[in-house]
Amino acid sequence: MLIFSNILQIQNHLTKLKSEGSIIGFVPTMGALHDGHLSLIKKSISENDSTVVSIFVNPTQFDDSNDLLTYPKDIEKDIALIKSISENTVLFKPDSYEIYSGEIKSDEFNLNGLDKYMEGECRGNHFQGVATVVNKLLSIVKPDHVYFGEKDFQQLRIIENLVLDQKFDTKVVRCKTVRSSDGLALSSRNKKLSFSSAKIATNLFKALNFAKEKFNTLDAIEIEKKVIEQLSAHSEIQLEYFAIADEETLEPLLIKKNKKYRAFIAAYVSGVRLIDNKKLY
Ligand code: AMP
Repeated sequence: MLIFSNILQIQNHLTKLKSEGSIIGFVPTMGALHDGHLSLIKKSISENDSTVVSIFVNPTQFDDSNDLLTYPKDIEKDIALIKSISENTVLFKPDSYEIYSGEIKSDEFNLNGLDKYMEGECRGNHFQGVATVVNKLLSIVKPDHVYFGEKDFQQLRIIENLVLDQKFDTKVVRCKTVRSSDGLALSSRNKKLSFSSAKIATNLFKALNFAKEKFNTLDAIEIEKKVIEQLSAHSEIQLEYFAIADEETLEPLLIKKNKKYRAFIAAYVSGVRLIDNKKLY
């Protein structure tokens, strides 16, 4: 496995691969890899000649400095996990100076209102930070395909919008959410949960399943009310939002039209912020 921390060096390597006709897949991550990340890497390996994985904990997308400080990191384990899938991947692990060179701050992107609700509402400048780093990474790697998880569905839609807006010659590939056997969506932040908190966190998935089950018989407001009621029975859970929204625009459901909707949830479980979503069609 080739490991680069320097932009010019990885670009030279990728230029050579591309000149030999290689199709490049790219999986951006913040590390602390788990089976969710690995599913994206495997998909990229199966669909491309070469796969680049990046590990970079992007400071500009954190709205909470303590969250950034305590974000789980284990680069040696990450490298071993990637190698266990394939020795033939390229790892890009730049530091903040390499990515931001001068001031560590977000650029301003037109996110077409996709950041208006849910995570955008709760996490300040989060999506400008995400768009900034993904724009930089795509400009460096220039992949044919880039892989993003539906686990972070709002982020995925924002990246799809960014790729169109910035005219990247890259196809965004949506990847299914990987869950543990009890339904909890895998997340690097799950590492911060105790065994019992992880069990309690499965109630977020249960709430999404409840929404799916009732979507044809109850209206969105009724479903939201019942979800709030159900979750309030668990003192460890502090719900930030539960929303049913149009999958395309991410606008909250007002009147049901013939559209594709998803249920979205964010909550603190024993102080750890988790998000999840599920399609309702
Ligand atoms: P992160 O390291 O959290 O920034 O995630 C890197 C990529 O992995 C993003 O595209 C995420 O949506 C994706 N991802 C994270 N968790 C999962 C999961 N449980 N299933 C599928 N994809 C995931």
